Formats: sequence, structure tokens, C-alpha cells
Amino acid sequence: MAKIDLHMHSTASDGVYSPSELVRIALERGLSVIALTDHDSLEGVPEALAAAEDTGLTVIAGLELGCENGPRDVHVLGYGLDPYDEELRNKLAEMRDYREHRAERIVEKLNSLGIPVTYERICEIAGEGVIARPHIAKAMIEVGAVADYQEAFDKYIHNDGPAYVPRLRLSPEDGINLIHQAGGVAIVAHPCRYADPIGVVREFAGHGVDGVEIFYPDNPPQLRNELNEVADELGLIKTGGCDFHRPGPNGDLLMGCEDVPQNAVDSILARAERYRV
Ligand code: AMP
Ligand code: MN
Ligand code: MN
Ligand code: MN
Repeated sequence: MAKIDLHMHSTASDGVYSPSELVRIALERGLSVIALTDHDSLEGVPEALAAAEDTGLTVIAGLELGCENGPRDVHVLGYGLDPYDEELRNKLAEMRDYREHRAERIVEKLNSLGIPVTYERICEIAGEGVIARPHIAKAMIEVGAVADYQEAFDKYIHNDGPAYVPRLRLSPEDGINLIHQAGGVAIVAHPCRYADPIGVVREFAGHGVDGVEIFYPDNPPQLRNELNEVADELGLIKTGGCDFHRPGPNGDLLMGCEDVPQNAVDSILARAERYRV
């Protein structure tokens, strides 16, 4: 069976492998289709496309956008879009600039909590990529303030944590329209992360979202059943991926861990035709 994984991060955002390394890992693991979905960035896509050329691996250009939903975040995946679309690239650049300013504010909060991380070190850790909280967590580990990533999030930088500062987020309409106008399809990411997953899917479907990520490691079986029903009712595409960022505590690589059906890819590519002008 074809192996497919439509959700992963590279060094262009908060993953630890470069886009070419992700392509190499996908080939080693026998995958046939991947999508690169960095946070607020398309910068890794050209490298991934080039690395996959003539290998038999299909790379779908993608990204993961943070949208607002009241005080909470909903992440929307975009697939099959034009990685050079100017309107989208301009907006993403604005979002990344805001992330730099936001990281400085998180550093101030951590410093006032007695944790001596520096903005300069966080920039070094992020390298060329989008600055995201996992880079800040790494700096916190380095100064000995926490033992691991999870402790950094659980104690300090989770969404209600004492050092949290929000990112610049798009409204659901703006996020979905930005993806559509760049020729891509928009998918509600990881429904298990939201307090009312089915409510979020219905609301975002009202804003024009095309599908929902059903095959996701943390989606429990009962939720998958409910998502299947709502997807059938609303005509949504059923997609999936493992949200691979880095090796797990045992060195395991979770890329390709879900049985994502081929019709997820076929439906994405067919639906994207609607948005091409
Ligand atoms: P940011 O885009 O800077 O807000 O960082 C978000 C990233 O941090 C997510 O994509 C995850 O990789 C990670 N993350 C967010 N919340 C948590 C959490 N509670 N525990 C572990 N990692 C998290
Ligand atoms: Mn991430
Ligand atoms: Mn996400
Ligand atoms: Mn993700």
C-alpha cells in the first residue's frame, strides 16, 4: 500500500531536519507522498521539491497557518498551493516578523521569572527558520531551567503559561482565503487539540474550509468516527499526517505512522483545481 504523510515540519520552522533530510527519511521509510507543512512558511518547499525530483517520491507544497478562534488557536493546513504566490508570501513575511518581536517578549517574561535565556541564542537555534516556541524550549534546556521540551511547555510556555505571548494570527476567513487565492486547499489540522473539535470543523466549514485531518496520531478512535460523519455530511476531504518534528525520546521517527488513504491525495489535487485561476 502506498504510504502517505501530509503533515511534517522542517528546519524552515520548528522541525530538526532540513527539507532534503525529510525527503531522504521519507524515501528510506518507503513513503510515496509527503507534504511539507512548516508553520507560517513556504521557504522549505523549493528544496524539498528539488530533493524529491526523479526519486519517485511526490512532494506536495504545503504550510500550516495559525488562525484565531476566540482566545484559542486553530491551525489550518494549506496544500497544493503556489509556493511563489506573492500575496501569501507577503503575509507570511509579516507573520514571521511578528514572531521575532513576540520571541523578544517571551524572553523578557522568562528573564523576569529568573530564566536567563537570550534572544540572540534563540535566533541561533532557529537558524534560517521561523522562530517558534520549541526553539525557546531548547534555549531553556541549555540554561538548565528545565529538563526537556515538555517541561518547558508545561511549566512556562504553553498557551496559558506564565511566559506565553500570542503570535500574529489570521481570522479563519482570512487564513482560508489566503490559501485559496494561492491555489491551495485548506484543511483543519489536529482536531483533537480543540475543546470542541466538531464545533470547530463546522464553523471552519462555514468559512470555506475544504477538509479535516482525521488520520492524526492523537485523534482518539471515537473522535475519528465523529469526524468521518461530519466530513461525509459536509463534503469535506479526509486527510492525515503525523506532524513529525524531531525524533521521539527513544530515537523513533514517527513519519508515516498513519494509514492515510490515497484518495486523500487525489481529493486534495482535484479540489485544488477549483482554486487555480
Ligand atoms: P509557536 O508556533 O511558536 O506558537 O509554537 C507552536 C509549536 O510548539 C507547536 O507547533 C508545537 O510544535 C509546539 N507546542 C505547542 N504547544 C505545545 C505543548 N503544550 N506541548 C508541547 N509542544 C507544544
Ligand atoms: Mn510545531
Ligand atoms: Mn499545529
Ligand atoms: Mn504541525
